[in-house]
Amino acid sequence: MIRTVEQYLQSLDDGRQMWCLGEKVKDVRSHPTIQNIIRSSAMDYVLPNDPRFKHLFVTKDADGEDINFLLTAPKSADDLLRRRECFITGMRSGGGIVLHCMGIDALTACTVAAQKMDKNLGTQYTPRIEAYRTYLQKKDIGITGAITDVKGDRGLRASKQVQHKDFYVRVVDKQKDGIVVRGAKVHISASHGANEALVLPCRAHNDEEEKDYALAFAVPMNAKGLKLLGVEPNVRLSGEECDWDYPISGAGQPTESLIIFDDVFVPWDRVFMCGEWQFSRDITYAFALFHRLFGSSRMSAELEILVGAAALMAEYNGIEKYEHVRNKLAWLAMYADTVKGMSKLACTDCEKSKDTDLVIPNAMYANIAKFTFAENLHEANKIVQDISGGMPATVPAYKDWKNPEIQPYIEKYLAGKAGIPTADRIKASRLVKDYTGAYHQVANIHGEGSLAAQRMFLFMSADWNKYKAAAKRAAHIDGWQKEPHYGHLPEPEKVVGPKLPPIDKSYKL
Ligand SMILES: Cc1cc2nc3c(=O)[nH]c(=O)nc-3n(C[C@H](O)[C@H](O)[C@H](O)COP(=O)(O)OP(=O)(O)OC[C@H]3O[C@@H](n4cnc5c(N)ncnc54)[C@H](O)[C@@H]3O)c2cc1C
Repeated sequence: MIRTVEQYLQSLDDGRQMWCLGEKVKDVRSHPTIQNIIRSSAMDYVLPNDPRFKHLFVTKDADGEDINFLLTAPKSADDLLRRRECFITGMRSGGGIVLHCMGIDALTACTVAAQKMDKNLGTQYTPRIEAYRTYLQKKDIGITGAITDVKGDRGLRASKQVQHKDFYVRVVDKQKDGIVVRGAKVHISASHGANEALVLPCRAHNDEEEKDYALAFAVPMNAKGLKLLGVEPNVRLSGEECDWDYPISGAGQPTESLIIFDDVFVPWDRVFMCGEWQFSRDITYAFALFHRLFGSSRMSAELEILVGAAALMAEYNGIEKYEHVRNKLAWLAMYADTVKGMSKLACTDCEKSKDTDLVIPNAMYANIAKFTFAENLHEANKIVQDISGGMPATVPAYKDWKNPEIQPYIEKYLAGKAGIPTADRIKASRLVKDYTGAYHQVANIHGEGSLAAQRMFLFMSADWNKYKAAAKRAAHIDGWQKEPHYGHLPEPEKVVGPKLPPIDKSYKL
């Protein structure tokens, strides 16, 4: 089924326990700041219902019924490319993937882990996760992914924490019909607008002692004992003023919550890992790769805005013709297209996931994409701020502009190049002010994992044998001959050497 926007909005009236700025939220749809989040989330239901985007977002299930493509499991490079296109289109549209971004990656990671566990341990998780997938597809449920545990002392493993044992979500009771879980997940995006959360471990829990933390399950947002502590909104404005003054932060108010599992009951048919610690690494690894693909697609669309903002400010200030400005704009465009290109390569060069019928994004390219984005973001912001001049720091607000007494002065003195309305220059300055501010910088460095997490993947995924073989072959050190990329290559000295005439020794070298 493909739900209408109205059906989706109706589903959020579910009695969830949520707080924002210390107050209980009565209804996420009508809350003055959360409403903007819901407006973005609902784009997930706008696009599949729009005939221009149906081919991208809608597919058929085995019964011939329309379902959301993002809720299917990726089996080929084409599936990954389509998934990426959905992310980019959703993001460009002004939301779109807010709702599905974490959840579908978590769903895919559960599918990978289920197939691996079933094959290696003889468990029966695959039918369970597939039944859950069918439920999601048939009801067109919006899911988020809750992975990051609060973690306490980062230097200690889950079972070794000293203050209490709930820094990582764990099972505290196993009953006939299900399990009881306790703990908290932090920074969870899309939590305001999701119908359900798919909960996974955030790290490998590497031995029997940690088995209670090797846990994956799904819960509705209104489950008994589940509490959502929404992050402080970026902006406490709403409506036109918010759209004008905070075009980025207003639309994408932090969608995150601290989700508390206060002894929440989860029926067995919603449990997708419970104690199989040997596979907690597989589930986190698969999630990380899929989520880096999502992240770099999201960033591709975000960078279009940032690069565009720099180009607009250059044009509005009349400096686009100068060489130093063109060089900076060229760097920004290269940066944006590198991220985009790498995310595409992560799809085209995907890998078959061992013991499963799924593909996973190429680990190297998915991590390069995210790392390149995050590592260079501050430099990019610096360039955009440089090109924009001081206006983004001191730009008038919507209320100033709307005051008829002062608007003529603003109009006259804050004009840039002739022909550009002053209001447009102000709006572009607000965009730069908002985009290059602190929240987005932190969110983009840490969303989808910290820089160290990508470095770890990059180190693990690099084909060191290939690199060493290349160096050995070049240095004539034995040991490269069996390496698949280099071993089969003809050697110039052996293939061409014997065919050359003898060296002319008359030269005085
Ligand atoms: C805006 C935003 C949205 C997010 N959305 C989601 C979401 O929807 N779902 C979700 O599950 N998560 C989400 N995250 C969480 C994100 O994945 C984490 O923030 C990220 O993994 C870093 O974890 P942390 O915040 O706990 O920081 P920390 O883990 O405390 O990291 C801080 C630093 O400590 C280092 N560090 C930590 N542990 C170790 C160690 N054992 N050894 C060496 N170094 C260490 C890190 O590398 C980093 O440099 C989101 C984060 C943000 C900021």
